[in-house]
Amino acid sequence: MALITEAYLRSRLVKGLPDPFPVRVGDKLTPAAVDFLKSRGIATCQIAPHPTILPDKMALKDMSVPVGVSNRHVHLSPEHVETLFGSGYSLTPMRELSQSGQFAAHETVILIGPKGIIRNVRILGPSRGATQVEVSRTDGYVLGVHPPVRLSGHIEDTPGITLAGTKGTVVLLQGLIVAKSHVHMSPQDASKMKAESGDRLILQTLGERPLIFADVIARVNERFSLDFHIDTDEANAAGLKTGDVVRMIGKNGEITGSVRG
Ligand SMILES: [Zn+2]
Repeated sequence: MALITEAYLRSRLVKGLPDPFPVRVGDKLTPAAVDFLKSRGIATCQIAPHPTILPDKMALKDMSVPVGVSNRHVHLSPEHVETLFGSGYSLTPMRELSQSGQFAAHETVILIGPKGIIRNVRILGPSRGATQVEVSRTDGYVLGVHPPVRLSGHIEDTPGITLAGTKGTVVLLQGLIVAKSHVHMSPQDASKMKAESGDRLILQTLGERPLIFADVIARVNERFSLDFHIDTDEANAAGLKTGDVVRMIGKNGEITGSVRG
């Protein structure tokens, strides 16, 4: 709710006041402000209390993207699985993830940084080429390391971290990242949303604290299902949880779904 004063109206006179003057539901005009408008013959009209996105060039129902919040996790190379858990060891799937073939393993590791440790960090399988550790910026403060924001797999010039398993320890020289937010999509989703792999999508969150994610990388693959992956810091900032829905309102710096108050 806002209070509209005469002083505010005067400050807007330079640009010209609209007639009728829009007042959001819940906003109030001071008596002096009411007189100010009346004396100029300007009427008022009530408008919706919150901004709404109106369908413009996009059909909004096709622009919804479900949210998947990723907690801190580790991807391990096959060699590191054996170093941490013993020779010949393979990970035990605990539950499937939204992207086909990916699973959260029963096994966890301890992350050991210069300032602190984080226990019970989930391993995601299957094992892959190079070990990669994805943490939030907040986790970085706990560990005492400040990794850059990177897309998965881009670990050149990133800091390392120490991992401890039940049978051994791995001292990584690089591979610690804060994951850059991205949307997994099938080619069918991509064509429906008029997006291509590598596009920088603009997504608006809904709810109590609406935010715009202005640079979300589209990742298109036959095996992917539609999912907006963010870390816990991003989820908390926007008040989002897994299963919530956001809307794509544009891409590559251009908003094509219009926002109107
Ligand atoms: Zn992802």
